[in-house]
Amino acid sequence: MKNAQCKKCLKKFQQKNIFTIQQFQYRKIPTYKWSLEYFKKLGIDEWDSLCENCMIEYSKKSREEWNKLKV
Ligand SMILES: [Zn+2]
Repeated sequence: MKNAQCKKCLKKFQQKNIFTIQQFQYRKIPTYKWSLEYFKKLGIDEWDSLCENCMIEYSKKSREEWNKLKV
């Protein structure tokens, strides 16, 4: 049953495929602290459900933003 909804694209998907930005705890850069602040500005918090596609997109975008700051 598709009973989960992506906060970003609003697509419905299965609960077991939920991603959250908590996953970013496991990457070294950007730091998790920075990531939380970044997503807060986008209106996403640690408990929001995201689909895999949006997760990948956010992963890329946040890294790009981080890189801009570090140049
Ligand atoms: Zn999505």
